[in-house]
Amino acid sequence: MTSLLPCPFCGGEAEVEFYSVKKNMHCCDVCCKDCNARGEQFRTYNTDEAIEMARDAWNRRV
Ligand SMILES: [Zn+2]
Repeated sequence: MTSLLPCPFCGGEAEVEFYSVKKNMHCCDVCCKDCNARGEQFRTYNTDEAIEMARDAWNRRV
């Protein structure tokens, strides 16, 4: 499992966030704990896949 890179803006710690959009559908993105920078959002029913996509998008950004 690839780990998240630090925030490209402030170097802070990043984490994957989930929230529900509607029933059984989740939105996943990566958010910096320090400056609240956000990565690309993915909406999906498949949680594992969403984590990977959000993480890859975040890591590509740096
Ligand atoms: Zn940051």
